[in-house]
Amino acid sequence: MFKVEVDPGKCIGDEECVEVCPVNVFQLRNGRAFPFQSGECIGCGSCIEVCEPAAITVTEE
Ligand code: SF4
Repeated sequence: MFKVEVDPGKCIGDEECVEVCPVNVFQLRNGRAFPFQSGECIGCGSCIEVCEPAAITVTEE
């Protein structure tokens, strides 16, 4: 299991993670990425790679 978190103070809402995530973990809410399906994460790390402001944290639980 992985836990996905987005720092809303860093997120710029460019939707890169929304587009890259193979299991649709993210959704844009109020202009910021929100990991509404964090439990679906497979830990591929793609969202971390594409996130320019480094707003995303993925931790194994
Ligand atoms: S690590 Fe991969 S599966 Fe998990 S949220 Fe990021 S892009 Fe999606």
